[in-house]
Amino acid sequence: MTGTGPPIQDGIDTTRPHPARVYDWFLGGKDNYPVDEELGRRIAAIDGGAPKAARANRAFMRRGTRMLATERGIRQFLDIGTGIPTEPNLHRIAQSVAPDARVVYVDNDPLVLAHASALLRGTPQGVTEYVQADARDPHAILDEAARVLDLDRPVALSLIALLHFIADEDGAHDLVDTLVGALAPGSCLVLSTMTADFEPENVRRGIAAYAAGGVTLVARSRAGVGTFFEGLRLLEPGIVSVAEWRPEEAPDGPISLYGGVAVKP
Ligand code: SAH
Repeated sequence: MTGTGPPIQDGIDTTRPHPARVYDWFLGGKDNYPVDEELGRRIAAIDGGAPKAARANRAFMRRGTRMLATERGIRQFLDIGTGIPTEPNLHRIAQSVAPDARVVYVDNDPLVLAHASALLRGTPQGVTEYVQADARDPHAILDEAARVLDLDRPVALSLIALLHFIADEDGAHDLVDTLVGALAPGSCLVLSTMTADFEPENVRRGIAAYAAGGVTLVARSRAGVGTFFEGLRLLEPGIVSVAEWRPEEAPDGPISLYGGVAVKP
């Protein structure tokens, strides 16, 4: 134990950087520790686009969620890899369109669980629930989700900035196939994940900096991201940088995350 207090409390290890907290630091949040800030600064120095990518990714989540609630009438949302709450969270967007929207959040990080109360303040007409589970255990997630969501009706499944933490060998495709397979026709998949297609050198160095901090990240090509959408109908504009997915403002340079939204036929 160090002199600064217990390094591991409630499952939260403050001696090693953690991706959700580094991401929180990029977004200007307060739920991070000095080790996270240190890695965040190192990555931002190597890849100045990283904080910008985090913001562009959040904006993609907001636009995708709003579009599904307004244009496709989706009223049920399953968001896996929720992250530390950052206003506005997904349920706020969905419930601002449809106060009766039902939202299930899932993350495997005890720190996210510790902050989950901020995710549970929704409309009285709607429902927001938090489940602590691992994305690599999709059956457990579906069992929990089915307590809140009617899986016979369309669900928007969002896997936003999650899959670059899960390698193909670690079951990334299996989990997507299992989850999508369990959803009703008309359900949608909203996904964003890292790529080295636009800024290969920066991304390579960023991955190395994360690896030095003990965090494994996977970059995928556009074709690699496309395999997650097999059997689904991609909505316009297909798989593009998150900043170029139905943008509301002019994209500010390349963003090294692909995003796409698709419907299950
Ligand atoms: N979706 C949010 C947060 C992205 S950060 C957003 O886009 O803003 C990625 C989140 O995925 C982190 O909170 C991390 O804890 C979570 N995560 C990583 N691997 C996971 C896994 N195997 N199961 C569940 N959650 C996971």
